[in-house]
Amino acid sequence: MTSHQIRQAFLDFFRSKQHLIVPSAPLVAKNDPTLMFNNSGMAQFKDFFLGNGTPPSRRIADTQKCLRVSGKHNDLEDVGFDTYHHTMFEMLGNWSFGDYFKKEAIAWAWELLTEVYKLPKDRLYVSVFEGDASDGVPFDQEAWDLWKGIVGEDRIILGNKKDNFWEMGDTGPCGPCSEIHVDLRSAAEVAEVSGKLLVNNDHPQVVEIWNLVFMQFERKADGSLIPLPATHVDTGMGFERLCMAIQQKTSNYDTDVFQNTIQVLETLSGKRYGSGEEPFADIAMRVISDHIRAVAFAITDGQLPSNVKAGYVIRRILRRAVRYGYSYLGFQEPFFYKLVAVLADQFKDVFTELKAQEEFVAKVILEEERSFLRTLESGLKRLDVITATLKSKGINTIPGDEVFELSDTFGFPVDLTALIAREKGLLIDEAGFQDALAEQKKRSRQDAAKEATDWIEVREADGVEFLGYDFEETHSHIVKYRKVKTKTGEEYHIVLDRTPFYAEMGGQVGDTGVLLVNGGDKENGGRKINIVDTKKENDLFVHISRDKQLDEVLQDAGIVTARIDKYRRAKIESNHSATHLMLSAMREVLGSHVGQKGSFLNDEVLRFDFSHFTKVTDEELSKIEDRVNEKIRENIALEERRNVPIQQALNEGATATFGEKYGDFVRLIIFDPTYSFELCGGTHVPSTGQIGVFKFTSEGSVSAGVRRVEAVTGEKALELMRAQEAVLNKIKDLLKNPTDLVKAVEGLLDERTALQKKITNLENEKIQSLKAALIENMETHRTFNLIVEKVSVPSADSLKQLSYELRDQVENLIAVFGAEIAGKPQLSVFIAENIVQETGLNAGKIVKELAQEIRGGGGGQPFFATAGGSDASGLDNALEKAKGLF
Ligand code: ATP
Ligand code: MG
Repeated sequence: MTSHQIRQAFLDFFRSKQHLIVPSAPLVAKNDPTLMFNNSGMAQFKDFFLGNGTPPSRRIADTQKCLRVSGKHNDLEDVGFDTYHHTMFEMLGNWSFGDYFKKEAIAWAWELLTEVYKLPKDRLYVSVFEGDASDGVPFDQEAWDLWKGIVGEDRIILGNKKDNFWEMGDTGPCGPCSEIHVDLRSAAEVAEVSGKLLVNNDHPQVVEIWNLVFMQFERKADGSLIPLPATHVDTGMGFERLCMAIQQKTSNYDTDVFQNTIQVLETLSGKRYGSGEEPFADIAMRVISDHIRAVAFAITDGQLPSNVKAGYVIRRILRRAVRYGYSYLGFQEPFFYKLVAVLADQFKDVFTELKAQEEFVAKVILEEERSFLRTLESGLKRLDVITATLKSKGINTIPGDEVFELSDTFGFPVDLTALIAREKGLLIDEAGFQDALAEQKKRSRQDAAKEATDWIEVREADGVEFLGYDFEETHSHIVKYRKVKTKTGEEYHIVLDRTPFYAEMGGQVGDTGVLLVNGGDKENGGRKINIVDTKKENDLFVHISRDKQLDEVLQDAGIVTARIDKYRRAKIESNHSATHLMLSAMREVLGSHVGQKGSFLNDEVLRFDFSHFTKVTDEELSKIEDRVNEKIRENIALEERRNVPIQQALNEGATATFGEKYGDFVRLIIFDPTYSFELCGGTHVPSTGQIGVFKFTSEGSVSAGVRRVEAVTGEKALELMRAQEAVLNKIKDLLKNPTDLVKAVEGLLDERTALQKKITNLENEKIQSLKAALIENMETHRTFNLIVEKVSVPSADSLKQLSYELRDQVENLIAVFGAEIAGKPQLSVFIAENIVQETGLNAGKIVKELAQEIRGGGGGQPFFATAGGSDASGLDNALEKAKGLF
């Protein structure tokens, strides 16, 4: 079976068992503060397990793009070194939300593996949870009995809490699990050692393929477990490992999932994969063919490489791949981006989003590669300096903090530093590096520290109803709340059964406003609770308040009035609708390749990142602005359609943003169906005229292939114009209200240039006449001619000019000048070069001595030196002293 057939067979099998097949959620996790990337199939269904939402069906199956490179699941360091852990992989899964439980889950898993995929039964082992006394959870007798009836006791292994008890997080649903392992060794090896002994022992050919989790408990914040009212099934099977087992390979990389990319790498490098001649070249090909998937799909789903958070994780994966290519496959030029095309074709029917953005993704990767290759070079230079210094001191270990700096500042992976060090006969201080790293991690953990209590339930509710599209105010009940300690203080997080508050999403900030308890009037025992922000946590709308001591009020409150700040909301809506009008205008003016890559909008500005490869010219910006303002003046009424089946919306040509997770039913925001037609969950103006006016304030680059514009609307645009007008008026005022301002300023500038010229000429003339007077006053001696004078010149430079010009006219000259320039005393000493040679006199020494009189210091060369000081009254003394010296 090909990998495509294997995937399809999984989905078909569960469809035949009445499961609804859903698409994968994007790789990048949204609205989940605990996750950067989706790392398992269940991540997108969390809310259903937590009871915050209702699933579209009680049975669901899919293939989910997963990434395990951060947080609880981080397999990055194993990837490439072993043959069955990936950064990005597909997790095939089937779920029961309060529907079937262990019996069906186990029977179906066995049926699929042995009857559909025809995996040999004598090569499969299963594990069952042995129980844990400290948690008071017993041995999973039910699973044991079910498996015993299918595989027999000798193929069942007992597993401990670490391997066989699954938890969503520190708190939340959890339960025992049952894993299925497969033994892929040769018959000879199997005859020698039983596979049973190798399960869960990191043997590359005896691996776990499927994990069946049975959720039946909930973990509370104090560590205790309580039974869940309804039990659920959550299974996850590694698609690439399954392909290895079915295609009878001993490595995931030998399956058709990876072979296409590996073949391209072979062609590009001229090396053969698996020849065994260069083990590191094999590792490099595995690393690269794995990492390109993670990087390409992350970018596709909207996570661009950057130097913070999730973006930094992607950048590091990319760099790891590039550096393996650089070190072991001889790739000194960008190569990684070339693999995008291979993947885009391979997945064109499964994850269509990559094919649709192929060019963009390849360009982003190419730019990243270029800049990393440059970094790699400067890092190598830095490393050269470090090693040379160490060697000259006879030290043979690179200190940990240097290694850390190389990795932190130059993006230089430690293993690369170690490798190069080894080539130069040096070691690295691994422990010291780990210390520096731990120190940095500690700092960033402290930054992120947040402490939350359990939710305190106030009353029952089925999910949350968002009414903010239609209402500014609702009568609601408090469902639950919790207290959260943050760096800045304590917050209350409040959940309502219905709310008009929009929670931050899709770039639109959360609403602010108030909750009024008992009408909010203090005198009548009421209370006004200020809401400073609203955020989404999965599907919950969390209203955030920084007011103090709310526990009692929240617990006792009956009906509360939830009211948003509608003036602020209106400004936000102007910015959101303007963003839609702008995107359409951009597509018209710049081309249809323009896609949204990021968006932020509040009541002041709108910021928008989009894919485009060159600077947007002023002319293009004006065109876009004109078009948006034209649409504003047309005063197009908002057409909002809710609950449209997603496929229908896309067929009608609605614009969707890659990487956004859309449900089966979507909301459409339309301002003239032939102009702006987008999938959007945000709030908008009732008609475009309300936006008033739209004006760009900036345009620039964010990263390779991505530009950013900022703009303002309505009142803010007016404010901007007023501010600019005020500056102009001030200038006009200063220029005494000329009729043509530009001409007046140009006139001023011309005049300034002319005056400058005049001054230079005058100064020159002055120096010439001064020169003549000085020569006349000169004392002539037998061996030298002496001038000691206080002069009036415009700058310290003039003293030099004066001395040099006199030298050209007077032989054997010694000239000492004093001058007061802008209130500060200045001295210069000139001694003709031949005198310096014959007598050893030194202008530098002399000027230092004279400078004492003006409380200053200076220096220079033996024939010319200058000094500045702070006491101008000492100038005469200085000159007197000078006369005595010669
Ligand atoms: P392992 O112990 O092999 O790392 P796991 O216990 O972390 O696996 P689960 O979290 O139970 O795995 O995930 C379910 C399935 O997903 C596993 O049975 C396996 O087939 C697959 N899987 C897990 N991690 C990876 C990975 N990094 N790359 C590829 N497949 C994986
Ligand atoms: Mg794991």
